[in-house]
Amino acid sequence: MARRQDIRLVQGRPLRLQLRRSSRARHLRLDVTPRRGVEVVVPRWATRRDVDALLADAESWLAEKAEVHGVWDGPRRRQWTSGDHVSLLGEPHVLELAPLPEGRKRPRVTVMPFELLLELPAMELLDPRPALERWLRRFAGDELRRRTRHWSDRTGLAPSRVIVGERTSRWGSCSARGTLSYCYRLVMAPREVVDAVVVHELCHLRHMHHGPEFHAMVRRLYPDHDEAMVWLRTRGHELEV
Ligand SMILES: [Zn+2]
Repeated sequence: MARRQDIRLVQGRPLRLQLRRSSRARHLRLDVTPRRGVEVVVPRWATRRDVDALLADAESWLAEKAEVHGVWDGPRRRQWTSGDHVSLLGEPHVLELAPLPEGRKRPRVTVMPFELLLELPAMELLDPRPALERWLRRFAGDELRRRTRHWSDRTGLAPSRVIVGERTSRWGSCSARGTLSYCYRLVMAPREVVDAVVVHELCHLRHMHHGPEFHAMVRRLYPDHDEAMVWLRTRGHELEV
């Protein structure tokens, strides 16, 4: 899968986009998200002319989306600095960036009740995001597995496997084989929201749909489920690294 940056004029204004060749994609597709910016997924059969035609067709839609998400100049990525707040299970932690002590090479992260200390090699202090993201993925892996075990014990619903990774469109999912997957960024949401997603996905082990039986089960096990989903829909975009 190859990626290529490109800049196109859209309604007379330069727009930065990514062309992503995909051998699995069957359709030419256009995605606009804050995290990835404008992305064109290009299946094997598509030519440059097909891409041009799609972009021309979608011009006004594209301009509007790029405006809404603020991605004319590429993905919107946070620049982290000391004093920023990092939310862990909904609790704000003040980020403290510091150079690693002499002789140490590996980044070190210390979580305190209201503070997150990130000690980095001097070169990484300029852009701490990759180190923060790496740590957050590990933290999320531990935490989301722990919450899943907790609810699994209470409900008797046991997944065959739990995967914590990156997902752009969903916070959690459940496969027919009983694998639960979570987006690692979910760990920044309030604890009640995390639990709602965990219970939601566990209930899919019993009901692989969103029908009335599914909803009855979710509400019985986690009465605040719907509120949590509203929170994710309206504020989920804040869970950014
Ligand atoms: Zn669902």
